Amino acid sequence: MKLLVTGGTGYIGSHTCVELLQAGHAVVIADNLSNSSSAVLERIARIAGKAPAFHKLDLRDAQGLQALLQRNPVAAVMHFAGVKAVAESVADPLKYYDNNVNGSLTLFAAMREFGVKRVVFSSSATVYGAQAVSPIGERAATAPANPYGRTKLMIEEMLRDLCTADPEFRAVALRYFNPVGAHVSGLIGEAPQGTPNNLMPYICQVAAGKLPELRVFGKDYPTKDGTAIRDYLHVTDLARGHVQALDYLERVPGFSAVNLGTGRGTSVLEMLQTFERVNQVRVPWKSADRRPGDTVITYADPALAGTALNWRTQRTLEDMCRDAWRWQKSGLAD
Ligand code: NAD
Ligand code: UDP
Repeated sequence: MKLLVTGGTGYIGSHTCVELLQAGHAVVIADNLSNSSSAVLERIARIAGKAPAFHKLDLRDAQGLQALLQRNPVAAVMHFAGVKAVAESVADPLKYYDNNVNGSLTLFAAMREFGVKRVVFSSSATVYGAQAVSPIGERAATAPANPYGRTKLMIEEMLRDLCTADPEFRAVALRYFNPVGAHVSGLIGEAPQGTPNNLMPYICQVAAGKLPELRVFGKDYPTKDGTAIRDYLHVTDLARGHVQALDYLERVPGFSAVNLGTGRGTSVLEMLQTFERVNQVRVPWKSADRRPGDTVITYADPALAGTALNWRTQRTLEDMCRDAWRWQKSGLAD
């Protein structure tokens, strides 16, 4: 299948391009490089043995998108492109509504014009409300707590409406839990700009001596060690989920939302200790106040992904820590 991958030079998109190319698909990437580098393209090609095509393009550029789809008839779109920092979305909501919602609207309009009727969308567990009880199933109420999460839900609703309006249009929204780690080759991974907000890249930078210590946000949560619990999954497992979602769209009409997670919860301290143990490296840390807006315990019920997508995670927390550290040490993360 020939596919358009928006945001394909980014963290999750690049890993998914590798899996798509290895599964025999042809890949055309559209990315404005606002949070990624074209240097990734050559590394994707080295891993997969095949190169993706690349177009530097902003999704809000309707004419550019139309020209791209005219020259590249694609069977489906994988839609990763967007901005994703929760705190920034609170400070600058219009950036998020413009980039994510407007960008998606422009993309879906161009798809309609060129008869492209399959889309796999990067959604997030942040669409669930803070009150959702873990394990969180897809039927849990949605109530995102910040503008970033609201853009994800709005895009899901757009896709739902498009599926209702056109019975041939099919969409799956993959609700990611906490993707971490890097490709086992050490050639691609997450390269956050500035000081990282997320736990794993922060741990990596402390271990590398770039940051003095990890602040563990919250020490008296009602969990076994007092720190908050998340469902971390390896980015390569997540990428494989997208290949499976493509097959699923061939079989199942309409709109679906599917969780991608392991179904297991890991505390901040468990993550920290696993990282130190498997990599034989010290990560200095101290307890700090709770981070505003954090949930206490969030992990997926991934049963639907198992039955519908025939997908389950294969990689362990140890793999995530090992691969993240290999990537950090490669020097390519900077
Ligand atoms: P990323 O920033 O590494 O990748 C996003 C890519 O999209 C970047 O390469 C960026 O340059 C590009 N981009 C952004 N706005 C664009 C625009 N208007 N036009 C064209 N390209 C644009 O982020 P990621 O972690 O790979 O996330 C990919 C998707 O998955 C995002 O939609 C994100 O919201 C979603 N998601 C990520 C996580 C996570 O923890 N990383 C969790 C849940 C959902
Ligand atoms: N966390 C932490 N210190 C950090 C970054 C994160 O203690 O420097 C904690 C955070 O409070 C949360 C968990 O690690 O409990 C995962 O945070 P992350 O931002 O990676 O994911 P999210 O909270 O968005 O699920």
